[in-house]
Amino acid sequence: MSIVRVALDVPLPTLFDYTVAEGIAVGTGQRVIVPFGRRQLVGVVMECVATTDVSPERIKPVTQVLLDSAPLSAGLLDLLRFCSDYYRYPIGQTVLSALPTRLRSDKPIISKPLLSYRLSASGAALDLDSFPKRKVVQRRILAKLAEQPCNLAQLKALSATVGTQLKTLEREGWVESFTGVLLPSAGSGRTANSIQKYAFNNAHTLTSEQQLAVDAITQVNGYACFLLHGITGSGKTEVYVHLMHEVLQHGGQVLLLVPEINLTPQLENYFRNRFPDVNLISLHSGLSEGERLHNWQQAQAGVAQIVLGTRLSVFAELPRLALIIVDEEHDSSFKQQDGLRYSARDVAIFRANQHSVPIVLGSATPSLESYHNAQSGRYQMLTLTGRALVEARLPTVRCININQTVMHHGISENLLREIGLRIERKEQSLLFINRRGYAPVLMCTGCGWLSGCKHCAGKMVLHLKDQRLRCHHCGYQVRVPHACPSCGKAELFPVGSGTQRVESVLQERFPDARILRVDRDSTRNKRAWQTMREQIHANEVDILVGTQMLAKGHDFPALTLVGVLNPDSALYSSDFRAAEKLFAQLVQVAGRAGRADKPGEVIIQTAFPDHPLFRALQTHDFEGWAATQLVERKLAGFPPFVFQAMLRAEGKQENEVYRYLHEAHTAAVTLRHSMKNHAQIEIFGVVPAALPRRANHLRAQLLIQATSRKALQHFLHAWQAPLDALSTQRLRCSLDIDPLEF
Ligand SMILES: [Zn+2]
Ligand SMILES: [Zn+2]
Repeated sequence: MSIVRVALDVPLPTLFDYTVAEGIAVGTGQRVIVPFGRRQLVGVVMECVATTDVSPERIKPVTQVLLDSAPLSAGLLDLLRFCSDYYRYPIGQTVLSALPTRLRSDKPIISKPLLSYRLSASGAALDLDSFPKRKVVQRRILAKLAEQPCNLAQLKALSATVGTQLKTLEREGWVESFTGVLLPSAGSGRTANSIQKYAFNNAHTLTSEQQLAVDAITQVNGYACFLLHGITGSGKTEVYVHLMHEVLQHGGQVLLLVPEINLTPQLENYFRNRFPDVNLISLHSGLSEGERLHNWQQAQAGVAQIVLGTRLSVFAELPRLALIIVDEEHDSSFKQQDGLRYSARDVAIFRANQHSVPIVLGSATPSLESYHNAQSGRYQMLTLTGRALVEARLPTVRCININQTVMHHGISENLLREIGLRIERKEQSLLFINRRGYAPVLMCTGCGWLSGCKHCAGKMVLHLKDQRLRCHHCGYQVRVPHACPSCGKAELFPVGSGTQRVESVLQERFPDARILRVDRDSTRNKRAWQTMREQIHANEVDILVGTQMLAKGHDFPALTLVGVLNPDSALYSSDFRAAEKLFAQLVQVAGRAGRADKPGEVIIQTAFPDHPLFRALQTHDFEGWAATQLVERKLAGFPPFVFQAMLRAEGKQENEVYRYLHEAHTAAVTLRHSMKNHAQIEIFGVVPAALPRRANHLRAQLLIQATSRKALQHFLHAWQAPLDALSTQRLRCSLDIDPLEF
């Protein structure tokens, strides 16, 4: 009889031992069903051992070994062990949260067989030249299938209407479906014939800077971390394409991490065009469970050559992994904010090291952490300083002092005039304001009442379109009151501006202009944003009003003016990263202007036109800006010069929240005194969170800081036992390593 140690999705920092009956083969990485209390749970075998501390009468046998998917590799299990340890999160929950949902369930994983398609005999006999020209999609499908059988995902790249067209072709008897064959058994990855011939659509010649970057990275044998710092429009993607080409030629797999699920379809199409018959899959939370499992297994089998995904894809199995790219590495969405609070960028670096492959971090505005690492020599810096299109120039940036100009509900007269000029020239303008709704708060001028949320410490946002006050923290909403709830007077006025208010000001000024608002409210519908992008590209829009959704990675060739409204609150925020985030955001949004052959202009409305941040933006001087920021961070003792962990707690009773954190604080102080390296550890006091009350929960936090990552990890290890001994009943507690939010 052998014993297996199993990872289970339960909040306990341990593995669980079970016996396996004689004659049943089971190995590490295999999924099993085991009894746990009264339930049956799916788990993953982490170790096979000979002995256990559990007494023979208490140990139970494994119920079933699941053979419907290939076992997880030792490498992935190691990666997950590292994450569990580094992020102080239970091993079982770490392992299970890395798997596609289907692999976490005890139901058979393939409920609906995934179909592949090929030409029937009559389909193969068709003469495509005589096939009706107007049936474009059908022609494309037939041509593609004439080359090789394809699955639906591969065909979907041809057109959005592939599904219905396929049905027609099947009805006509030209195409037939079949199951399974395209999904090879796992483990077959490392074979000689895995190097397939493929077409490379080498549409662009690299600039000398791009070529230097490609050469530097491809010359590396083994692990190295590169920071690819390229201004917007400098063609980082082209560097990625050539790196991919290099890797694919040698039969390797590429993992490309991107911050936004919204960006994946565009990038997917782009890379598919460049590598038409390479197996490219995406992994993100927008896929159906079946698609996600299918894609994950393609990666695991080594069949998927390019894996394009959001942060969770950093845990995809990749037996022939040869290169990792993290695009927009500074983006905060790489950090998971609940459960396993990992940074996909940092895990990717660990993973590249573990697999001895190079990793490229790309950004126009690198995070100060990565930038500092590149300057201190831990990473290699590669810079792209020129725009890839010679005729494309960087936009000019200027500030308008809002205290010295005529304002119309938050928009200056100058900016409105510039927009008018663009409309005459049939060019597009974009107004960027990072606040949705009509106004951030409703105020009574009679008594000073403000529309606070009764469940949170925040304010209720006025949404005029549907006459609601809505809390963006907890979702609570009420109808807009006709009179002040406090004094009864009808003297309620909106204060400040959101996207809806900007939209209505523009409508009044430019009644004939076509205005499009892009924010989370207007894009709730899944296809809405896609449709809007098409409208923008077809030049059916004159003015865009939007939040940061618009700032990221989209190319709008007719856009020549960007107006930035209200950036000032980030300049003097209590969050030490606010200025860094604002700079990155403004560079990105400014990068939308003038990408084609038309010069772009950026106008920033601010009360502080001489602020160094805006000066740096005007001179496109990231280096100078980063250098002064790093000096400030060093003086203030902030990351990247220190390493942090944040213990957070929230609960309905204030005294319970604070009692827990004070006890944790006392334990930390005692522990620090007992440590040899105590000078390296700093323990801060218990303080309320930035939003001290959310959805009727009181929130507070405790920060631990260390001068080295190792010292911090050492301390957190030792702190775990006293923390576990504290009562956390009725509290939600979490430990966040390398936190981004304060
Ligand atoms: Zn009032
Ligand atoms: Zn609320």
